[in-house]
Amino acid sequence: MHDIQCLGVYTSGGDAPGMNACLRATVRTALANDLEVVGIRRGYEGMIDGDFVEMDRRSVSNIVQTGGTILKSARSTDFLTEEGRTRAADNLERYDVDGLIAIGGDGTFRGASKLNDEHGIPVVGCPGTIDNDLFGTDTTIGYDTALNTAIENIDRIRDTADAHNRLFLIEVMGRDAGFIALNCGIGGGAELILIPETITEMDMIKERIFSLMSAQRRSTIVVVAEGDELGGARGIEQALREDPTFEDIDLRSTILGHIQRGGAPTAGDRVLASRLGVAAVEALLDGHTDVMVGFVNGETKLTPLRNVYSRKKSIDYDLLKLTQILS
Ligand code: ATP
Repeated sequence: MHDIQCLGVYTSGGDAPGMNACLRATVRTALANDLEVVGIRRGYEGMIDGDFVEMDRRSVSNIVQTGGTILKSARSTDFLTEEGRTRAADNLERYDVDGLIAIGGDGTFRGASKLNDEHGIPVVGCPGTIDNDLFGTDTTIGYDTALNTAIENIDRIRDTADAHNRLFLIEVMGRDAGFIALNCGIGGGAELILIPETITEMDMIKERIFSLMSAQRRSTIVVVAEGDELGGARGIEQALREDPTFEDIDLRSTILGHIQRGGAPTAGDRVLASRLGVAAVEALLDGHTDVMVGFVNGETKLTPLRNVYSRKKSIDYDLLKLTQILS
């Protein structure tokens, strides 16, 4: 058991829809356990600057349905240094914060682990990132919303691709992981899906696109993760345009970009975020630290933070095979 009187909570790294729902669940669970709650604004930047705000029930009213994060988020280079982390720990002490809930991705958890190791501050993480690339949870908070946003946009592009018999290259988010690309590609009926986890060779892509176009399809959609090694949609477009074989191709690229981050969280993300927020505070009060609370096979599960950021979560290769059958 940890004897915690005052809980600090922060959102950090890339914002994700559902972070607010998680924040609400965290604050209300802490209050239900008679803790004081302090919100730390702008992630580790605010922790270093002492940008702290007291939170009560009403601070988290009417936010379960909103995207972004009311506490704001930031990326902090100062926190990468020992001096920065010491300043952050001094501020936590000044505000009597004796336990933390960190909502963010793997970088956020690396930082949280260091606070735990270097300054003995108990911390539990909640997986908040649209990329779904965290080991220790089936899905992350924000992923379902981002996926649905991507699919909705692919559907729209399909209409225009179909009207003009066009080939569209659609780039979706995922610098290191292809979860969004793979799943929105399947859900959006893409003819080809390119992700960082697989080796993508330009010759193979050209051959495949050539055969798709030769089959007189009404439309062709290629979904590309931004981190695919051929340079995303722009890289592939350039290679096709430079090749005389594709001289007459009617080709367009669209980068969905930050559109995938915003918007109201889906029902799935709201429920996941609420469940994990409650479980995170309970885990901290039960004496756990340096762990992330995830949702695995229908149950909440704790995983050491070091495993979360050092192990790679695998994509579902069976799903990848499906595209070949379905396209
Ligand atoms: P996302 O997956 O959405 O990008 P993230 O949490 O991985 O989210 P990062 O920018 O990688 O986002 O990390 C958030 C912050 O965590 C960084 O700006 C930095 O302050 C801190 N951080 C990242 N890595 C470390 C590290 N190795 N040591 C200490 N702090 C770190």
